Amino acid sequence: MTPESVGRSVARDRRPLPAPTGEARRYVNQWVEEEALGSERVRAFVLILRTRGCYWADVKGCSMCGYSKDTLGRSATPHELAEQLSRALVRYRDEPYVKVYTSGSFLDDREVDPASREAMVAAFSGRARRFLFETLPEFVQPEVVGPLRAAFAGELEVALGLESTDPTVLGRFVNKGSPPSEYLAAADRLTAMDVLSKAYLLLKPPYLTESEAVRDVVRSVAETAAHFDAISINPVHIQNGTVVEWLYHRGRYRPPWLWSLVDALREGAEVRGTARLVSFPTAGGLARGPHNCGTCDARVLSAIQEASLSQEFGPLAKLECDCRKEWQATLAYAPLGVEA
Ligand code: SF4
Repeated sequence: MTPESVGRSVARDRRPLPAPTGEARRYVNQWVEEEALGSERVRAFVLILRTRGCYWADVKGCSMCGYSKDTLGRSATPHELAEQLSRALVRYRDEPYVKVYTSGSFLDDREVDPASREAMVAAFSGRARRFLFETLPEFVQPEVVGPLRAAFAGELEVALGLESTDPTVLGRFVNKGSPPSEYLAAADRLTAMDVLSKAYLLLKPPYLTESEAVRDVVRSVAETAAHFDAISINPVHIQNGTVVEWLYHRGRYRPPWLWSLVDALREGAEVRGTARLVSFPTAGGLARGPHNCGTCDARVLSAIQEASLSQEFGPLAKLECDCRKEWQATLAYAPLGVEA
């Protein structure tokens, strides 16, 4: 079976059936996490809305993305979205940084209609200092972003899942529908609209070796830095119903080592220009997430978090563990990215 046919069959199998309205009134998840605004440590309120989900996931989907499991299989009505928001606001404690995600694009009208988008941004205006959402680049247009900019009396920040600036890695290995140039152009449009931009870069897409993955993400940082205000390196974690999971179950994919992330951050810090460089790995230290030997994982993850918050990457050079030698051997001898 070719990777393309695996991708299409995985996309078909994970598509949800249309959900009842009770489910559509409940958001997917909400939590509070540590963040930074400039040099100030702050708490961030994170909300995952339940929407129709990413249209690209229906077409083909990205090889590492399993977010469609949290979607409705149909568009949420404005009333259902309003109810999700009001349930979330009950838990909001004026955290200065607010991040609202859908399992797709906040700016896609099929997921969140324009009036609901404005209502959500306005609900946090005057209470939060920064409001972040994620979208695909084709939806970043002045007529779509402009009303949101006007509705929020603080900093608006838009995250774009660029993943890699290599067109082959992005198009064939990650399976994104748009080339890297569209992401860079969208970031430039955001800057012109006085909106902050954040790039999500993927560490270790499938079909790359461990060392190729580090090189790919460091080069992507360098090529992204002039366009984005912030860059987040996101190591792959294995989500259900994905091509990456299909490979993982067949022993053909290992999530990245934390040592690879440490190196990517250290080298990325040298080429990031004025962009903020961060990484807050999901499922860190777990078998299905970025991990080392198990002994050092918590210590390394804590150092990565501290470096991301403080923007001081020097201390990462002092991390040590016996498993670093094993990782170095992996860099040299894993030509197919296949490891035990
Ligand atoms: S990674 Fe983003 S673009 Fe790709 S399928 Fe998931 S939500 Fe859609």
